[in-house]
Amino acid sequence: QMILYDDHLIDRSEVKIDIEDRAYQFGDGVYEVIRVYQAHPFCMDEHLARLERSAREIYLQLPYEIEKIKSLLSQLIEKNNLQDGNIYIQISRGTAPRQHGFPKESRPLIIAYAQPNQRPLQDLKQGVRAITTQDIRWLRCDIKSLNLLGAVLAKQAAVENNAKEAILIRDGKVTEGSSTNIFFIKNGQLWTHPANHLILHGITRQVTLSLAEKLEIPVKQEAILESQIPEMDECFLTSTTMEICPIVQVNDQPIGNGHPGPITRKLQLEFEKQITQLHTV
Ligand code: PMP
Repeated sequence: QMILYDDHLIDRSEVKIDIEDRAYQFGDGVYEVIRVYQAHPFCMDEHLARLERSAREIYLQLPYEIEKIKSLLSQLIEKNNLQDGNIYIQISRGTAPRQHGFPKESRPLIIAYAQPNQRPLQDLKQGVRAITTQDIRWLRCDIKSLNLLGAVLAKQAAVENNAKEAILIRDGKVTEGSSTNIFFIKNGQLWTHPANHLILHGITRQVTLSLAEKLEIPVKQEAILESQIPEMDECFLTSTTMEICPIVQVNDQPIGNGHPGPITRKLQLEFEKQITQLHTV
């Protein structure tokens, strides 16, 4: 397995991460996950723009121009012969003697690797279960930061309850999933939390909103209350790896009739068209 380490590709066994790398000690860095379909990255520009923004928000200067990072990632896909899977890319503030404040001298370190992965076809078709849990994360969820403990603990609660996702609740309102954005449908209208500091502005969320516009599905970017979940007609989650995936049960309550709903299906179909277009043009 070839890994992107700084500006070159090396074998995984040759990668050296220092014990004082700030990503390792403080989670001081940012990351992205980019989906690859049939060797074609999906929404690469959007992901790299978000990476740039996340870095800027934590006063981290990217080690290279976006164009150069893009070309390094293309090499990574090629050298690993990645067909279907993900690219994980992270940028750490670098290595320096351990102290919280930014080091005067440290060079940001970029690493990336490819993971083969198939589309979650069964979940996409049948839908998944979710639980609700308190959103205990910090107040800059719009930054795709390496600090993921809040998300890790929430996802673990889901795993222990045989659920695929944990829907996070802050002040009685649904924010997002532990690693996904959450949408609801009620009376033909789409509801999702506004893209502010309380959620990650998901790329798949954005794609979904543009598909909704195309399909003339009205959208309200407003949070719904946890107590309203059982009244919803449909529910789905979105993410780079899970795409648009129906949620058919939340805690012990079925959503709608307990099967993926018609508007969710329509959006899924339209999404599928977009990703197949990638490698047929
Ligand atoms: N919210 C959170 C908290 C996430 O971690 C993710 C996935 N990284 C998402 C939403 C979905 O974002 P995207 O569609 O860009 O993968």
